[in-house]
Amino acid sequence: MTTRTRLLLTSLAVAGTVAIGGAQSLPANSAALDAETLQHFQELLKRDTQSPPGNEIRAVEYLKQVLDKEGITYQVFAKDPQRPNLVARIKGNGKKRPILIMGHTDVVTVDAKKWTFPPFGAVRDGGYIYGRGAVDDKDNLTAALMLILRLKREATLLDRDVILLAESGEEGAPDVGAQFMADNHLDAINAEFCFAEGGGVVRRGGNVVQANVGTTEKEPRPIEIIARGPAGHGSVPSKNNAVTHLSAAVTKVANWVPPLRVNETTGAYFRKLQSMVTPDVAKVYRDVLSPDPKVNGPAAEWLLENQPSHWSMLHTSLVPTIVDAGFRYNVIPSEVKATLDVRLHPDEDQDTFLDEVRKVIGDPTVEVRWFRDRYRPAGGSRLDTEAFTVLEAQLKKHYNTVALPTMGTGATDMSNIRAKGPQCYGIGPAIDTEDGPKGYGAHSDQERILESELLRFTRFTYDLVMELARAR
Ligand SMILES: [Zn+2]
Repeated sequence: MTTRTRLLLTSLAVAGTVAIGGAQSLPANSAALDAETLQHFQELLKRDTQSPPGNEIRAVEYLKQVLDKEGITYQVFAKDPQRPNLVARIKGNGKKRPILIMGHTDVVTVDAKKWTFPPFGAVRDGGYIYGRGAVDDKDNLTAALMLILRLKREATLLDRDVILLAESGEEGAPDVGAQFMADNHLDAINAEFCFAEGGGVVRRGGNVVQANVGTTEKEPRPIEIIARGPAGHGSVPSKNNAVTHLSAAVTKVANWVPPLRVNETTGAYFRKLQSMVTPDVAKVYRDVLSPDPKVNGPAAEWLLENQPSHWSMLHTSLVPTIVDAGFRYNVIPSEVKATLDVRLHPDEDQDTFLDEVRKVIGDPTVEVRWFRDRYRPAGGSRLDTEAFTVLEAQLKKHYNTVALPTMGTGATDMSNIRAKGPQCYGIGPAIDTEDGPKGYGAHSDQERILESELLRFTRFTYDLVMELARAR
C-alpha cells in the first residue's frame, strides 16, 4: 500500500463517517471494518476462478477459513466437487421469513496479456482495486460476507434468518450453481426476499445520478434460422441458393420491430426517469408509455437510435450474431445457418413467438427453431414489498438518490431463485459511467472498482439487511 493510498483511505473513512450519520452503520471501529472489507475483497480477487473451468473451490476454501475463525457454521453443496456452493446462515427468531443474500464466486475468463495490472493481482492504484471480478461479482460477495461477519459478531437480535449464498457457475454454468441450488437444495436458501447482482448505482462526473434496482429481466433464448437448397457449382446461378435465402431472412428478422410492451417495472422506471433528464428526453419517456401507437411509435424509434438498451427494455430483441454458411468460394452449400441472440420480453408468448418470426421471414424453404429449451425464465419481483420500500430509503440515505426499478436486458441468477418464489432485487456498488467505455467495466480486459465505493456499498448492504431483519 502506498502512502498516498493510505492517506486517501483515511480521508475516505472520515468522509464516510460524516456523510452517513446513521448510528447502526457506524460502530466505533469503522476504519477497522473498512480495512477488513478491502482485505477480504483482495483475497477473493486473488483466487483464480475463471469460468470455464471455474475452480470456485478456491474461493470457497477461503470463505470457509474466514467463517471457521468466527465460529459461523456453513454447508457446502456441490454438483461438481471443484465447483461448490457455500451457504451460511445467521439465525433469527423466525417471526419473519429469511433474507437471502447472494454473490457468485466465479468470474469470466481473461486474456492476461491485455491486462496492465495482473488479472488476479488485486492491485491497488490511485483509489482503485484492479482485478477480474472487481465489479462482477466479488464486490457483492465481499459485501455479503462482511454482513454475515458483523451480524455474528454483534450478536444482533433478528426477526428472521439471514442467509449467505456464495454460488458457483454464474458465468454460463448455472446447472452447477444457482439452478442446482434452487432445484435441489431450496430448503437451504429459501427466503422471502433476496438480494444479488443485477442492479447498481450510476455515477457520472463523480456524482451519483441514479440507482438501478433489478426487479425483472429478459429471458435469453437464442434461435436458429436454417436455409436449405440444392448444392451446386458456384459458376452457375441458382434461384434456390441457400445463402441468398438465409441472407434475406436474417435481414428481415433483424429489421423487424416486435410489439412494444410495458410492464410494472418498466412503467415505473420510465416514469421516474422523466424527472431526472432534460425536457426533450423526458417527453420521449412519457410518449413511449402512451397506449397510442402514433405517440409511442416515434418515441420507440428514437430510443432504438439513441438509447438502444432502453429500447431493449420495451421489446423482445433479435440480434444476428453467428452466420455459418459455406466452405468454398466455388461451391453453393446445401445447408446454411444463422444464430440470433434473442432476448424475450417477460410478457412474450413463447408458444407463438416462432410463428411470428416465420411470418416475418415469409419463406417456406427457411426453417426457424429454438437453439435450446427454456432454462432461465425471467420472473419478476413486486414493487409493493417491504424490501423495496427499505431499499428506497437506504439508497436515499447512502447515495441520496432514487431507486429505479429496472428490467435487465441480460440475465442474472435471480431468475433461478425468483422461479421458486422469493422476491429478488438486484443491487450493486456505484460505478462511473465513464469507466466502461475506457475499458474498465465488467468482462473487460481490465476491471476495477473505486475502493471508496466498495466500502460504501458494504455499509449500504449491512444497513439494508439490518433494517429488514433486526428484531422490532
Ligand atoms: Zn456477475
